[in-house]
Amino acid sequence: MANITRILDGNIEGLFFVDETCIDCDTCRQLAPEVFTDLGDYSVVFHQPSSDSEVRNSTQALLACPTGSIGTTEKIDTHSVMEDFPLPLDDGIYYNGFTSKHSFGASSYFVKHPEGNWMIDSPKYMPHLVVKFEAMGGVRYIFLSHQDDVADADRYAKHFGAQRIIHRAELRAQPEAEVVIEGREPVRFNSDFLVIPTPGHTQGHCVLLYKGHYLFTGDHLWWSRNRKTLNASRSVCWYSWTEQTRSMELLLGYEFDWVLPGHGERITLPAATMKEHLLRLIERMHSNAK
Ligand code: SF4
Repeated sequence: MANITRILDGNIEGLFFVDETCIDCDTCRQLAPEVFTDLGDYSVVFHQPSSDSEVRNSTQALLACPTGSIGTTEKIDTHSVMEDFPLPLDDGIYYNGFTSKHSFGASSYFVKHPEGNWMIDSPKYMPHLVVKFEAMGGVRYIFLSHQDDVADADRYAKHFGAQRIIHRAELRAQPEAEVVIEGREPVRFNSDFLVIPTPGHTQGHCVLLYKGHYLFTGDHLWWSRNRKTLNASRSVCWYSWTEQTRSMELLLGYEFDWVLPGHGERITLPAATMKEHLLRLIERMHSNAK
């Protein structure tokens, strides 16, 4: 629960505010970019919402914030806004919200599929989401991109009897995971889902390609709001930049028109344009090799 006595400098006065518990995860800036902005090491409210939709987006941000750092100076209706989650993004693809501080506010997703639904990385364990997932047919698989973004995957797996999928090199984060990816070969699950090992950010990082359109990228690849292009960062590469560059080159062999990351912005672009951005990123990665 945010505390007005701990409000951060830089918030503009009004209904919404951010307090000093903010961990600068970017979730609020994605959900309500017209209200929240980055002040270096934290977010603040730079424009108070002035329409119903801006209030709704800001309330979604309040609910999705991993640290409860967003507050209001008056009571607002969070109950009906909670019903927005999981947020539909595209046909059968949802953003879960309710990010976990244990994954530094990483985004997680839900894919509705006739052969069993998938969760991609994990949100906080929330009874509200459990009820929503149950109504959509439960969760059959939980794909875990890497060890940092597992959050409450074990609790969701137990509740739904779901199978967690994770690479062996990340297994310490979910030692009882049901499906372990080995080595570097892609692994297909029915005709629609392809797990692709992409070592670099961590040793056993993997991405998930769905239907040849949607690439769930964990912390391997994301869209940069400032650069307006695809991005990866050496400063958050925990295993090997050389390996991450190789893994990025590997993705040139696949078509996709969505990038849905754990951190950073989601983006949809024509596949050919996406590939151009990917090529430019690989060039930048090579030039930053040393
Ligand atoms: S969502 Fe919460 S923790 Fe993340 S940047 Fe916004 S206020 Fe800070």
